[in-house]
Amino acid sequence: MELNDVMRLVRKNIANLAPYSTARDEYKGKLGFFLDANENPFENGYNRYPDPRQLELKGIISQFKGVAVENMFLGNGSDEAIDLCYRIFCNPGKDNAVSIAPSYGMYRVAADINDVEFREIQLDAEFSFPAEQLTALCDENTKLVFICSPNNPSGNSFPMQQMLDFIASFKGIVVVDEAYIDFAEQDSLLTVLPQYKNLIVLQTLSKAYGLAGLRLGLAFADAEIMSIFAKVKYPYNINIAGMERAKELLKRDVKAEIELLKSERKRVADALVAMQCVEKVFPSDANFLLVRVNDARGLYEALIKEQVIVRDRSRLKGCEETLRITIGRPEENDRMLAIVNNWK
Ligand SMILES: *Cc1c(COP(=O)(O)O)cnc(C)c1O
Repeated sequence: MELNDVMRLVRKNIANLAPYSTARDEYKGKLGFFLDANENPFENGYNRYPDPRQLELKGIISQFKGVAVENMFLGNGSDEAIDLCYRIFCNPGKDNAVSIAPSYGMYRVAADINDVEFREIQLDAEFSFPAEQLTALCDENTKLVFICSPNNPSGNSFPMQQMLDFIASFKGIVVVDEAYIDFAEQDSLLTVLPQYKNLIVLQTLSKAYGLAGLRLGLAFADAEIMSIFAKVKYPYNINIAGMERAKELLKRDVKAEIELLKSERKRVADALVAMQCVEKVFPSDANFLLVRVNDARGLYEALIKEQVIVRDRSRLKGCEETLRITIGRPEENDRMLAIVNNWK
């Protein structure tokens, strides 16, 4: 899609929105006596409002993601970016969004909150990419398609070319949620972001970067789309404490942790496959395994009794009798494996 056509997808009220102008938008200098924001002038580290554009933290993220600051949005978790997609592109009661099932539950919740019809395609038994069905389900009021890759809870990535063909053919916004991309063998769609003006890529600092408690979600897209995100978001959506901790903690190298979790994923999958109660371990490009067992509820409760908590995903269609097991530290994985092995 051409950028002009993408910008026409923005709701009229949002396109015409005059955003709130903060004191820090009107005077961007760093030096001086700041008598413009009604702050308490006695310094304690947090008496000033944070930078509404988060330029320092974005600069750091820009370096390791290889994406310019103007192509980036920083939110209160990915959830904020998901909600903003609906608020920016979907007219309540009129437009619709399309996704796959099983997938991440927030796409539907955010649609419901925004009074946007939510449609989904049930994936097949191998969780393969349903390009034709997605296209068939979209109509002229479909503004958003959410694709989670690697997908939660199935764990698989969709082939890059299949996703790109769909993005090229679709006349709305495609949001590709890459929360688990750092554990995947295949490349991020960030590598092709400039070529697809209707693509929004979501990532997060919550998983591989180990900062779930700080609530920092990322969205990447064309600079014009990102400027719409910037004017619709709450002005000071990221606080100073979170930004400072993130700046500090992003200095540490997470590569070794990621490599260990990937090798643990293989070790745990190989061990589980050989166990009596395990029927299938689905291929995973994420930091969890979806595992089909002969009695998911029974095994879930046996694990709980030993204080090992996993997620029972059995009530999701397509995930009958499955547990979703996050890859932990090696000794945690050993303990989980021992319980599964001794069960029944
Ligand atoms: C964990 C997860 C996220 C991250 O959510 P945050 O709000 O950034 O913590 C996003 N998408 C999917 C599919 C996830 O599983």
